[in-house]
Parts: sequence; C-alpha cells; structure tokens
Amino acid sequence: MDDLGWLGLACDLARLCPPSTTAFSVGAVIVDANGREIARGFSREGDPHDHAEEAALAKAGILVGRAGRLRGATVYSSLEPCGARASRPRPCAELIVASGARRVVFAWREPSLFTAGTGAEILAAAGVEPVELPELADRAREPNAHLL
Ligand SMILES: [Zn+2]
Repeated sequence: MDDLGWLGLACDLARLCPPSTTAFSVGAVIVDANGREIARGFSREGDPHDHAEEAALAKAGILVGRAGRLRGATVYSSLEPCGARASRPRPCAELIVASGARRVVFAWREPSLFTAGTGAEILAAAGVEPVELPELADRAREPNAHLL
C-alpha cells in the first residue's frame, strides 16, 4: 500500500473515535520500513485523554521505555501530530521523535483551536520528515465537522 492508502486507512480509523466536543477525532497507523503494519490507534481508544498516535505508539511498546524501536518506521496520522498539549506531559510529536520513526505522513494541519500547531516543526527539527498530503484533508476533517 502506498502513502495515500495508509493515510486513507488512518482517516477511516478516526470514525471509530468516541465522540467529543472538546478534542479532535484522529486515526493513526504505524508502518515499518518494509511496509508492514506495526500498530494502529484512534483518539480516546482506551482513555478519554488518548491521542491516536499515542494509542498506536502504546501498542508498539514505545510508552514503556522501548524508545528507538520504530527506527525507520512511518507514522500515518489523519491530523498533524500535536506539538503541545494540556492533558499529558509529552506531545505526540515528541513521542514520535523518541520512537525512532523516520517519517510522519498526515492529511490535515492542526488548526490552532486547542493548541498551536507546531508538531510538524518539532518533527522536522529532530530529523523526522513531515509529509503533508492535503488531498486527504477533507476526509480527515469530516469526523470533526462539529468542532470547526
Ligand atoms: Zn497528540
């Protein structure tokens, strides 16, 4: 599957999010360097504070100290990973940097509704390539129409 296919899957996963009036619905998929899926997740999957990337990274073991395990992987997220957040100490962009992932492909640049959208800048500064595919932005926005 190519970038558009994986990112489309991430956009579809966003539809599984429990509804929220205060947080975005996002889907994420982590794919290894050989194009195999490692993990997937969506917002509020296990806890009301879960972000999609975090849910997927947790399944890949990244939140329990296995930093660097995702070397060479690509993280697909319907929304630009957050660069700052109120509910937990580490934003998704920092977790992704720690994971060792090489690229982040996203559809929708975070609107400055809840936080400043600095995830892509944090990633790029740390050597993780951010790739925006705006052709899927409408699909990423759709489950969030009530917030916009
Ligand atoms: Zn996040």
